[in-house]
Amino acid sequence: MQDRRLQLEPGVVVGEEFVRLDDGRVRCNVCPRQCTLSDGQRAFCYVRQAKDGQVVLTAYGRSSGFCVDPVEKKPLNHFFPGSSVLSFGTAGCNLGCRFCQNWDMSKAREMERLSDAALPDDIAAAAKELGCLGVAFTYNDPVMFFEYAADTAAACREVGLKTIAVTAGYATQPIRERLLGTMDACNVDLKAFTEEFYSKLCFAHLQPVLETLEYLHHQTSSWLEVTTLLIPGHNDSEAEIAKLAEWYVEHLGPDVPLHFSAFHPDFKMMDTPPTPPATLRRARAQAKAAGLHHVYTGNIHDQDGQSTYCAGCGRILIERDWYQLGSYHVVDGACEYCRTPLPGHFTARPGRWGPRRLPVVLEHRA
Ligand code: SF4
Repeated sequence: MQDRRLQLEPGVVVGEEFVRLDDGRVRCNVCPRQCTLSDGQRAFCYVRQAKDGQVVLTAYGRSSGFCVDPVEKKPLNHFFPGSSVLSFGTAGCNLGCRFCQNWDMSKAREMERLSDAALPDDIAAAAKELGCLGVAFTYNDPVMFFEYAADTAAACREVGLKTIAVTAGYATQPIRERLLGTMDACNVDLKAFTEEFYSKLCFAHLQPVLETLEYLHHQTSSWLEVTTLLIPGHNDSEAEIAKLAEWYVEHLGPDVPLHFSAFHPDFKMMDTPPTPPATLRRARAQAKAAGLHHVYTGNIHDQDGQSTYCAGCGRILIERDWYQLGSYHVVDGACEYCRTPLPGHFTARPGRWGPRRLPVVLEHRA
């Protein structure tokens, strides 16, 4: 199969968003970090590097592994429920979250983590053969492997597959437009609602993420859902949830689904306890009281907090417990009982993938 992009050496392609500075250094313009790099220097995200007056991506066609997951695991509850998606990421990340729940991949500094060599057309062909709805760029963040993700998304579109980005939304406007806004669906992590949290625990900033959310919702047709991982004592106060919900209703409206998910001790926050289910339920109740129609709990068993309800009559439309679906009452994208439209993308019957997680090894089909 023909490569979509010239590789300078295996896995290395010229980046598309950088500028050359007068002092000989280069500046990457993929995310707001705007790394300024001397020749040979690796960037914060590790997978980009300055090389001969250019910024190169060193993870092109190099995945940290493939898995077929339920679409609900992204999480997306209003995007073809019950479907399976082929999911993958690379090494590296453009954020530095101390609580990272995928740190073995995102913090990988060795290319042996990039175990599966797979070019964009291989990935699309594999997703098709596996009967998946589409391909999800996930585990770390497609923003910093933009060129690889964009080519894979193009290959998917050519064979009728959907594309999904799971992202922190920490991107510049060109990458919002050229990658995130072209996806069929995005789940954006809104990690907290304070600049202090973003700067101290993620080495990033809140404002660019809010701009990504508004851009995706108001200026693209990409279906948007949002996830906030609640970390005890750091972003779970009633005051912070109230501010988040108020901003959300005002800037995104009531119909963009919001997921509050449970933290478990990981990476550099092993001393922080797991999120009590009661905290997730309280945050959900708060957000619903503020006017959001579809608020979910995640990473716990909670049928009430994970089922989808009609915003008109209040009846259960999609019964759900973690990734397992139960009864389904969506007809022509609306409530079967009162005909109130249900925002999102729905088929007459849900998919039948269930909660399974199937690791897949891709072989290069050159
Ligand atoms: S994508 Fe990587 S190299 Fe580019 S600005 Fe962000 S962290 Fe730096």
